Amino acid sequence: MLIYDIITKKKKGLPLTDEEIDFLAQGYLNGEIPDYQVSALLMAIVLNGMDIRETVSLTRAIEESGDRIDLSHLGDTTVDKHSTGGVGDKTTLILAPIVASVGARVAKMSGRGLGHTGGTVDKLESFPGFRTSLNSEEFDSRVMKIGLAVTGQSGNLAPLDKKLYALRDVTATVDSLPLIASSVMGKKLASGARSIVLDVKYGSGAFMKTPEEATKLARIMVDIGKGRGRRVSALITSMEAPLGRFVGNILEVKEAIDALRGRGATDLMEVCLSLATEMVSLSLSMSREEARTRCLGVLEDGSALNKLRQWIAAQGGDGSYVDDPDLFPRASVTVPVTAERAGYITAMDTEAIGAISVALGGGRVKKEDAIDYTAGIEILKKTADRVESGDVIAILHTNKPDAAEDCSARYKQAVSIGEESPAPVRLIFGTVS
Ligand code: URA
Repeated sequence: MLIYDIITKKKKGLPLTDEEIDFLAQGYLNGEIPDYQVSALLMAIVLNGMDIRETVSLTRAIEESGDRIDLSHLGDTTVDKHSTGGVGDKTTLILAPIVASVGARVAKMSGRGLGHTGGTVDKLESFPGFRTSLNSEEFDSRVMKIGLAVTGQSGNLAPLDKKLYALRDVTATVDSLPLIASSVMGKKLASGARSIVLDVKYGSGAFMKTPEEATKLARIMVDIGKGRGRRVSALITSMEAPLGRFVGNILEVKEAIDALRGRGATDLMEVCLSLATEMVSLSLSMSREEARTRCLGVLEDGSALNKLRQWIAAQGGDGSYVDDPDLFPRASVTVPVTAERAGYITAMDTEAIGAISVALGGGRVKKEDAIDYTAGIEILKKTADRVESGDVIAILHTNKPDAAEDCSARYKQAVSIGEESPAPVRLIFGTVS
């Protein structure tokens, strides 16, 4: 078999056999097939797609590419959650402590930033000392002891996805339904939780631009998971605007701490509570109504904030940052962005805003790039807000003063201002279960 022939086949839009997918997986993992050939194949998949059989086959190849965590001894209440990627999406930092405080066992595998989107692993590494690379015993013991652990794709868990993910991030090959479905479900199946809640994003900042496309992706992922005996449910949520008020690693961590103190933005809290409710309801077999009441209870009585502190410490991080977020470093430069006319914000190009955060230093342009944890954007005005000419609509945080002027101009372009207040967007479009 030749990888050249496999690329040619997909270029012509033909389906790949299971054997060809296994050949690709093995060859890429053991270094025999180089990045440039896999990049070409990924682009052909983005352009020509994969059918459901190919998608299931790639999911299996990813799941079986490394170790698989067996959490069955932890009982039936283990739960994982995964977002298909957003801008300002710090939901894991808020909902994981909520769900663990209610009594489910959150055993979550998270990723790094991808393309214009942020990643939970990068956000967690904003805490000095925090270890996102746990082996399966370390992962297991924390889930057992405090009901919560989050690991990156460390060690040998779904290593095929780890390699593909890093390559897709820098070759503009992320936004493909079969590549996203197999990447998400391959890792979720390998990481062992009994229940899986998916947050499938749609809109200008998501890889899926319409709720219909997102629903299609959700349906495929839910079916793959159910076919493997897991309880799976997906919420379709809006990424027509960044979630909450901040984009960027430390800025979002601080926002999450604030949210657990009861000061979260309305959109952020609604998405977090809806996902947390689904996680509790699936894993503890509870009605959604009761699950939501319990989630609100642990948020209000401070247990969820305590759980965050406990979690950070349990993974080697400095928990005092939870009590005093001013300990986090700040970017050396802050640049206000002002509105050029009066009116209502009618739309936000959320993908462009995510890309601006990357350009400010908050994400990677090349695989090996280091992240500036302090960089990002504070968003003061969002869709439907009224602004006057000269009002500050955002503040850019960066250590790259040279990037600031261009980023400021790009931010103004990403925000549309018009005469009429826009129709409200549906934050939660629906559930697929
Ligand atoms: N999240 C993932 O884990 N994989 C993707 O491909 C996209 C989002």
